[in-house]
Amino acid sequence: MSAPDLMPIHTKPVWKQLRTKLELLILASRVGWGKTYKMSDVLSITQLRKDYGDTVAVDGISFEVRRNEIVGLLGPNGAGKTTTINMILGVVEPSSGGIRVEGVDLASDRCRALERTNFAAVYSPLPGNLTVSQNLRVFGLIYGVDDLSGRIEDLLKQFDLAAFRNVKCGVLSSGEQTRAALAKAMLNQPHLLLLDEPTASLDPSVAHDIRGRIRAHAAQGAGGVLWTSHNMYEVQDVCDRVLFLSHGRILLQGNPKTLPAEHGKASLEELFIALAREPLALEGSG
Ligand code: ATP
Repeated sequence: MSAPDLMPIHTKPVWKQLRTKLELLILASRVGWGKTYKMSDVLSITQLRKDYGDTVAVDGISFEVRRNEIVGLLGPNGAGKTTTINMILGVVEPSSGGIRVEGVDLASDRCRALERTNFAAVYSPLPGNLTVSQNLRVFGLIYGVDDLSGRIEDLLKQFDLAAFRNVKCGVLSSGEQTRAALAKAMLNQPHLLLLDEPTASLDPSVAHDIRGRIRAHAAQGAGGVLWTSHNMYEVQDVCDRVLFLSHGRILLQGNPKTLPAEHGKASLEELFIALAREPLALEGSG
């Protein structure tokens, strides 16, 4: 036997351990070689589509969310925003296309892809018969959070919920419920945070504080944020990049501060209204 054959297999480079082209192809498909995934992408969406019978809710969209980036997913009612978020969360199965979270393919490795993902939305309140603390404890146990008691105390303080720790979530005001849902979404320090209209029921002062916290989360941590909102002031304030969705397709994308002027509009709201009323007039111009 020659010396290389006596060498323990793990000391050889991985590619030398592969005996056939087939094995190399299988490895390539697992790690996503040949695809456009970059280490800096927290989320990578490729040609994602969802059909409900004759309705095309999402029509072959591709985009990414980079690390430390807040991306706004905008569009009129029925544009496909929630369907997109639900596919990324794995609760709606795509008709076709790919979703990778930090390079992990959601379809083939769901647990690992969703491990560091979390979500908050006004339409998805926490169980109402549990108190704020009980909810945070139950979700923290599900996520396997280290030093859970300490983490819960931090979040109660951060989201101004300490006074409500023993109050059942079902009797909280809608703004308090939203803050509790955001605290839950931060429990596992998510690398991908999906927020569907997170500030819709908050008063302007609380909404301002919450935006600051989400911005700090994106700036300091290892994660990125996908944010939907109908509040263009908020979007301009918080998002690094926006995607305009209409009839399930991305019509425009860019920096929310410069995009309106690039399309001859005075504000993001004016651009939004133009896109919602006449999507074809601006399609392909971004
Ligand atoms: P909104 O701003 O009103 O929340 P949206 O952009 O989130 O709207 P979606 O909820 O994703 O839009 O809906 C996209 C399209 O898909 C709509 O035409 C909607 O009626 C349709 N749709 C969504 N879910 C289903 C479903 N389960 N069955 C059939 N059609 C659906």
